[in-house]
Amino acid sequence: MTSSRTDVDVLIVGGGPAGSSVAWGLRGQGLRVAVLDKAAFPRNKVCAGWITPAVARALELDLSEYARGRILQPINGFLVGMMGARANEIRYDQGPVSYGIRRCEFDEYLLRRCGAELWLGQSLARMERQGDRWLVNDVIGTRLIVGAGGHFCPVARVLGARLGQAELVVAAQEIEFEMTAAQRSACAVRADTPELYFCPDLKGYGWIFRKGDWLNVGLGREDNHRLGDHVAQFCEEMRMHGRVGFHLPRRFHGHAYLLSHHAQRPLAADGALLVGDATGLAYPQSGEGIRPAVESGLLAARTILSSAGEFSERRLNRYADVIARRFGPRTADAPVSAPPVVSGWRQALARYALSTRWFNRHVVIDRWFLHRHQPALS
Ligand SMILES: Cc1cc2nc3c(=O)[nH]c(=O)nc-3n(C[C@H](O)[C@H](O)[C@H](O)COP(=O)(O)OP(=O)(O)OC[C@H]3O[C@@H](n4cnc5c(N)ncnc54)[C@H](O)[C@@H]3O)c2cc1C
Repeated sequence: MTSSRTDVDVLIVGGGPAGSSVAWGLRGQGLRVAVLDKAAFPRNKVCAGWITPAVARALELDLSEYARGRILQPINGFLVGMMGARANEIRYDQGPVSYGIRRCEFDEYLLRRCGAELWLGQSLARMERQGDRWLVNDVIGTRLIVGAGGHFCPVARVLGARLGQAELVVAAQEIEFEMTAAQRSACAVRADTPELYFCPDLKGYGWIFRKGDWLNVGLGREDNHRLGDHVAQFCEEMRMHGRVGFHLPRRFHGHAYLLSHHAQRPLAADGALLVGDATGLAYPQSGEGIRPAVESGLLAARTILSSAGEFSERRLNRYADVIARRFGPRTADAPVSAPPVVSGWRQALARYALSTRWFNRHVVIDRWFLHRHQPALS
């Protein structure tokens, strides 16, 4: 992009799964669409990198083509339990129920094929309303801006989101590294069977997930108090129980994001929409955010196409209705409070449930993590 003024029909800020899905949904419609991202791709993203088949279907991904030269780890089962207790093994026989990907590969693949102009390595620094248009960084004009900049999206901030304040977030730390030959032979985690371990206070869970020769280990909680200690304890436990027979590297990366039931950010405004983590759509029980990012991106594209060039808040609010139908109502008016403490008999009951194979299979994995009851977006 040059420093002279450029006008586009739709400017998407952020080239993660949410932003590239908006562009993918708008391709071939005669609109000039551009994606602006502060990062040069491929870029990394703190994430376990687990996607459900619904993501591949909604994006019409050709998985055999994707797998050429990239990690695509089929998942056929899970080990699930409470930390410090025996885990249940859940297996599926009818083909993969999920896949492991590396975000540096996955996000770049989606972005390069999305059909939009890519303005990478450029941050959104300023945006101002001028009549019915936005002027971005003094040189880009657009009637519609889509905020897809993740949890700290600058468009969300301009639309009134109070980033980092009065928001109850999931705080997570994760590491992904390529194992050496010695580490591979000392790793008991099977590549097609990610392992999930819930924290004793039920405020989060840790995972250990092998994708080919790569190992991804992390822990997320709806409470960032002493997160590093929880992570260190989890890693030590994995070593003590023989899941990894070596000390894990200490270079964990942290990130925060919103779960949909706590998010109070707007979805639409005059000339603007928010998608993915920018508005806070991750599933509450699993923290899975790629599918909601992709689906909200595709639904935003549908709203844009059906708006026939009228981008008033009233018109764009149809997107908010569609999102509520897909992901459930948001607690926009509810005060932000600490997560409910699961205590006493409820905690005992939850612990018992999490020790049973039936609950782990039908509720934890099928419903909370795989969302098998919710078909892919057609
Ligand atoms: C530790 C951890 C593990 C997770 N594991 C999983 C998992 O296994 N499966 C799953 O489904 N979800 C997982 N999630 C959630 C998932 O990573 C997010 O929900 C998902 O990345 C949201 O996608 P997005 O496109 O909305 O945002 P992002 O992927 O964050 O993309 C936002 C983009 O905006 C760009 N950007 C930001 N600011 C600006 C700016 N000022 N100007 C221009 N560009 C900007 C960024 O560079 C980035 O490329 C995990 C999250 C964490 C923290």
